[in-house]
Amino acid sequence: TKFGGTSVSSRETWEHIAAITRKHLATGVQPVIVCSALSQASNKLERMVAAAVLDEHQDLQTDLTHHYLQLADALGVSSDLITLDLQQLQQWLTGIALLKEAPAKTHAQILSLGELMMTRLGHAFLNNKGIHCSWFDAREALQSVSTLHGGADDYLAARCNSEPNPDLARQLISCGADVIITQGFIAANTHGDTVLLGRGGSDTSAALLAAILDADVCEIWTDVPGIYTANPHQLPHARLLKQLNYDEAQEIASMGAKVLHPNCIPPVRRA
Ligand code: ADP
Ligand code: ASP
Ligand code: MG
Repeated sequence: TKFGGTSVSSRETWEHIAAITRKHLATGVQPVIVCSALSQASNKLERMVAAAVLDEHQDLQTDLTHHYLQLADALGVSSDLITLDLQQLQQWLTGIALLKEAPAKTHAQILSLGELMMTRLGHAFLNNKGIHCSWFDAREALQSVSTLHGGADDYLAARCNSEPNPDLARQLISCGADVIITQGFIAANTHGDTVLLGRGGSDTSAALLAAILDADVCEIWTDVPGIYTANPHQLPHARLLKQLNYDEAQEIASMGAKVLHPNCIPPVRRA
C-alpha cells in the first residue's frame, strides 16, 4: 500500500493510514507501507540543492525543517527521530556550497531524506497506535540497473530490477512485525549509492516491491478516489473509471496524468 505526499502530510491522513492498515491486518496479510515525502518536500529539497550552489539554501532549509518538526509534533512522536537526517542535510548542503557544484550523487542523497524522515515519523506513529510495525530501508530491496550512458539520470531517474526475491519476502514475513514501513522514490545502485526513481517515483517503488515480494495486490492511495477520464481537480466533469486494464492505465500514466507514474505499470503487469 502506497501513500503519496497528498496522504502522509497530516495527523488526519496518518489516522487514515492506520485505519486502512488495520483493515488489511484483519484479513491476515502483512502490509508493506510505502511512503512518499511530506507534500512539497521533494520540490523544496530540489530547490535547496540548486540554491546551495550559490550558498542561498538557508531559508528553504529552515522552512523544510519546520514542516517536518511540525508533523512530528502533530503525530505526537519525538523530533529526535529525524535529528541525524537533518544534520546530514546540513552537511551535504554545506558541501555543495563549498564546492559551488551539486553532483547528481549528492542531489539524490539530499532528496532521499524527504522519504527517509517521513518513514521514521510514520513508523513511530503506527507503533504508538499499537500497530507493530518494522522500519525497512527500501535501498536493501530495490537495486537499480545502470544505463550505458551513465549520466545524471542513473542517480535521478534510475530504473530497477523487478525480479521476484523470495529470500527477501521470507525475511520480511519472518521478521515478526505485523507491518513493514518503507520509503518510496529511493533505491540503491550496484555500488550501494542512493539513487532516485524520478519525480513521482514512489508509485514505481510500490509496484516494484509488489513484484519483488510477490504481493497479492499493489494499492496506491492518493487524494482522489481513483483514475478519472481526466484530472478531476481540473475538470469537475471527469468520470471515475470503474475498471481499466494495463494498456489503458499505461496510456493514462504515459500521457502525463500524475495519478500514476508511467514506470509503475510494467512491474505489476509482468508480475
Ligand atoms: P500523490 O502525492 O498521492 O502521489 P499525486 O499528486 O502525484 O498524488 O497524484 C494524484 C493527483 O493526480 C490527483 O490529485 C489529481 O489531481 C491528479 N490527476 C491527474 N490526472 C488524473 C486522472 N486522470 N485521474 C485521477 N487523478 C488525476
Ligand atoms: N517525493 C517524491 C516526489 O515528490 C516521490 C513521490 O512522491 O512519488 O517526486
Ligand atoms: Mg504521485
